[in-house]
Amino acid sequence: MATPNNTNPNPAAAPSPKTDLTGMHLLANALKENGVEVVFGLVGIPVTEVAYCLQLVGIRFIGFRFEQQAGMAAATYGYLTKKPGILLTVSSMGFLNGLTATTNATVNCYPMIQISGSSDRAAVDLEQGTYEGLDQLNIAKPLVKAAYRVNRTEDIPTGVARALRAALSGRPGGVYLDMTVPALGGIMSKEEAAKITYKVVDPAPKQYPSQQAVDRAMELLATAKKPVIVLGKGAAYSQNDDLIKEWVEKTQIPYYPMSMAKGLLPDNHPLSALSARSMIMEQADVVILLGARLNWLLSRGHGKWNPDNKYIQLDIDPEEIDCNRPIAAPVIGDIGASLEMMLAALPKYPLADHSAWVKEIQEKSKEANAWMQSKLAPSPEPMDHWDALRAAKKVLESHPDVLLVNEGANTLDDCRDAIDFFQPRKRIDCATWAIMGMGAGSAIGAAIATGKPVVTIQGDSAFGFSGMDVATMCRFKLPITVCVFNNGGIYNNIGVNPSHNGDPAPTTLDLNAHYEKIMEAFGGKGTYVTTPEEYEAALEAGIASGEPNLICVQLAGNAGKESGHIGYLNPQTLIDFTV
Ligand code: ADP
Ligand code: MG
Repeated sequence: MATPNNTNPNPAAAPSPKTDLTGMHLLANALKENGVEVVFGLVGIPVTEVAYCLQLVGIRFIGFRFEQQAGMAAATYGYLTKKPGILLTVSSMGFLNGLTATTNATVNCYPMIQISGSSDRAAVDLEQGTYEGLDQLNIAKPLVKAAYRVNRTEDIPTGVARALRAALSGRPGGVYLDMTVPALGGIMSKEEAAKITYKVVDPAPKQYPSQQAVDRAMELLATAKKPVIVLGKGAAYSQNDDLIKEWVEKTQIPYYPMSMAKGLLPDNHPLSALSARSMIMEQADVVILLGARLNWLLSRGHGKWNPDNKYIQLDIDPEEIDCNRPIAAPVIGDIGASLEMMLAALPKYPLADHSAWVKEIQEKSKEANAWMQSKLAPSPEPMDHWDALRAAKKVLESHPDVLLVNEGANTLDDCRDAIDFFQPRKRIDCATWAIMGMGAGSAIGAAIATGKPVVTIQGDSAFGFSGMDVATMCRFKLPITVCVFNNGGIYNNIGVNPSHNGDPAPTTLDLNAHYEKIMEAFGGKGTYVTTPEEYEAALEAGIASGEPNLICVQLAGNAGKESGHIGYLNPQTLIDFTV
């Protein structure tokens, strides 16, 4: 596979491991030089030796069963560490499998780099039918923040530098780095390689907004009678936890955290408007978006929102502004830099007294919390989602340092509402696209990034997309407790096939499946539970064990309904398929 190129200073001499290296080793060195500690992936032609080179230079290689899950791990690692998560994939289908995750990372503003081996482009470009021939660069381009191809061994360090800068600077995102076989297989003297390998300086430069933008925002804020802050995962990503807390507490403005911003301030904070979503939408007059996009998750600023409100938006990306509603005061810069300047300006712009507004929100929250308590009250057996969540809530809220990965339909919606967070970046979910199939990978990325216990709460359908990578949890002995909420279907188990031909309904899955056996197959612990008490005990024990384990949480087949809170996205038919 190795194709020596003309970078060998002495082409007449046979390459020697003492004096020479290949592009694969150079790639590992360039990553190491730039502080990369871990790479997620799945090897095969032409990147197998790349992974060995990574281990040789002291970079961990976390080998998966499915590239998409390795990519989900890289993305989550990037989100939690502010270092790019690196994904290594083979050419053609391995590349495509991984690209799903790189695209999802881009949509979610997570920094990650997918490095994929690719066939010699001379044969790919002429469509001559080479091994795994696919024009990977051009396929990746529209789906990622940036895409580069390295054709020559001596360009590898530059390729790595460009990928790092693109992934981390400005709005973070997924980057594709195409490594052709000639580049990977080229041979170079170690001396020459050392000269061209370098560490990039300041790959994510801090960016300050203009003073004018800050003053404009503060002037508007000073007029507000019912202001609210919306905290998004951009704020969580930026890791300015102290400044965000200072801003909320000094201004005494209530805040609403998006799902992954939960815990930036404790969810039971007196200024939390978590349980007063409709009220703030309908009544807030000035809305400060802090690393949150006014996208579908916020009804794109329409629907219930007060049509006369005004927005202040703190974001790193100027192109985000005005995408759904006019933004009266854009503040473009890092959350941290922007908040420093706004805090400095605060004494010049005295804010109105919002205490009555805060009280109204607190009253509303009390009502909503009572409603939540009634939802969480025991129901007749077998368990439904709320019974299981009552147990999970008790355990997780008593372990605030445990990170939760959450995906599903009802399992996502109900869990997000039920479980409170008290520390930043402890909740990772299927986020902006609301996709299914990130659970195992995300949990592995989180466990590797933090070294702390991770719990997943996944629907049985969601688990199906990534379940095989419990093998990876076991191989790397990770402290992950997987909880599969099994109600036997997509939404539930009670769909009816209108043709009555004996086939299951489209939404029907496997109500009697024993998912815990999948974990046992790889040496992890499996537990099957049918009551909230059993679930509570198993979850407590799973977290305490520090080892991979899976709890199959048996729910009733009729627990759950179609599509949770986003029913308006499901076109109606005149036939009811569920009983
Ligand atoms: P959520 O889903 O929680 O609302 P989004 O992903 O929609 O969050 O929005 C995150 C926003 O945060 C994006 O518009 C992104 O540009 C922005 N962002 C990311 N990192 C930073 C940062 N360091 N400083 C400011 N804004 C950031
Ligand atoms: Mg289900």
